[in-house]
Amino acid sequence: MNKSYDVIIIGAGPGGIYAAYELNKLAPQLKVAVIESGHPLEKRSCPIDGVKIKSCVRCKSCSIMSGFGGAGAFSDGKYNITNDFGGTLYEYIGRKTALELMHYVDGINMQLGGAGTKMYTSIGSAFKKLCIQNKLTLLDAHVRHLGTDINYIVLSNLHKLLKDSIDFYLDEPVLDLGPTAEGYEANTSKNTFTAPYCIVSVGRSGSKWLEKTCRELDIPTHSNRVDLGVRVELPAVVFDHLTNELYESKIVYRTEKFEDYVRTFCMNPRGAVVTENTNGIVTVNGHSYEDEKYKTDNTNFALLVNKHFTQPFNDSNGYGENIARLSNMLGGGVIVQRFGDLIRGRRSTEKRIDENTVVPTLSATPGDLSLVLPKRILDGIIEMINQLDKIAPGTANDDTLLYGVEVKFYNMEVEVSSRLETSHKNLFMIGDGSGITHSLSHASASGVFVAREIVSEVN
Ligand SMILES: Cc1cc2nc3c(=O)[nH]c(=O)nc-3n(C[C@H](O)[C@H](O)[C@H](O)COP(=O)(O)OP(=O)(O)OC[C@H]3O[C@@H](n4cnc5c(N)ncnc54)[C@H](O)[C@@H]3O)c2cc1C
Repeated sequence: MNKSYDVIIIGAGPGGIYAAYELNKLAPQLKVAVIESGHPLEKRSCPIDGVKIKSCVRCKSCSIMSGFGGAGAFSDGKYNITNDFGGTLYEYIGRKTALELMHYVDGINMQLGGAGTKMYTSIGSAFKKLCIQNKLTLLDAHVRHLGTDINYIVLSNLHKLLKDSIDFYLDEPVLDLGPTAEGYEANTSKNTFTAPYCIVSVGRSGSKWLEKTCRELDIPTHSNRVDLGVRVELPAVVFDHLTNELYESKIVYRTEKFEDYVRTFCMNPRGAVVTENTNGIVTVNGHSYEDEKYKTDNTNFALLVNKHFTQPFNDSNGYGENIARLSNMLGGGVIVQRFGDLIRGRRSTEKRIDENTVVPTLSATPGDLSLVLPKRILDGIIEMINQLDKIAPGTANDDTLLYGVEVKFYNMEVEVSSRLETSHKNLFMIGDGSGITHSLSHASASGVFVAREIVSEVN
């Protein structure tokens, strides 16, 4: 069927949803469609239950990554207000505007169910000094912890608010996108959507599709980095002094051996380790709930090293994918290893994991991460664990668990203007899909930004 709109938005993650929210608020007369490949929010469910289904069964549409709410729906809902990490949106729209938009979205999240959640800050924290004394750097950020449960409520309220004025098409992947005389045409297997304006916000799960689309539309792209490493899980008490004050601490360490940077990422106090499926590759991630009854005894966080290939090989994601594939080949999915086993150069076994004092929150295959991760990356991670042990004694205990591999794939960076517009007029690329953002806050802010750009032309 042919469906004609003023604006079509591809992807219903935070970028797409906040673009729709702002368009609806500032220009309710506009006819807006949001087309999403994944399921409606209430139908999103990952089959892994830890009992019958223990590892990823590679669903056609991964409910962790796709559907209304995007990759953020079952995320920990750590909403970081900062230009220090989470993307480079500020390079396009300016530091002040980027921060203002992140605060603006935070305000909406508070009105739609997030009120009462805590905002933490690392700015002015005494831990900065402790970190510096141990060759570690604590980055500045305000962090709102919504938690997976409240994040879900906010998304569900956003849907309730928008569903009568915005047309959402779920379970409809856009197959191709092209220009028409009046604007753009997006085809799914059921419908053809046309509009003068198009916003593409397809996130990481849409990376392959976006690469193809940019090639077809001759939109220049640039290679991006990949972050590789492990997820660390340890007793929550080891990190309580940091997480109680900061919730999430983004700590960076420059290794002695190779002068590589290793950083902590996505810290989940009293949370759980989960798997993630990106384009069929199973990697590890983590989340935690705000509700006390879902809290575990463990804290988890990632330790990542970034690699950016340019010449003669420039496929950073391909490098990360192949390492993740190797781990999937050896472990059938995610591998878990005790830190003590890694240091002694032996694999972990079912028996050693069963006897471990830290009880894993994810059922993963006991194995040997040194057979998967390149030595340089693994050496950096081991150095960082020993360094963190100085500010959080117990981090380098034998029973600390390491899950691998954790990979943060970054989409290639699409060449866009300071309006986030591609070389094609009125075709905008935002959020994680554009390679410019890597977080809920930056992705949402980019959505509000382009909506305002469009409204400034049509109103
Ligand atoms: C487990 C997990 C935990 C996370 N925790 C946090 C956190 O605590 N804090 C934080 O800041 N970030 C977190 N993130 C990252 C965060 O979720 C993303 O940065 C954010 O969701 C990006 O928003 P987006 O709108 O750009 O893309 P996405 O959220 O990825 O949304 C893109 C949407 O587009 C759809 N799509 C893709 N291709 C097509 C197509 N061809 N046609 C139609 N639709 C398509 C996808 O199905 C998807 O729903 C986490 C991610 C994961 C996976």
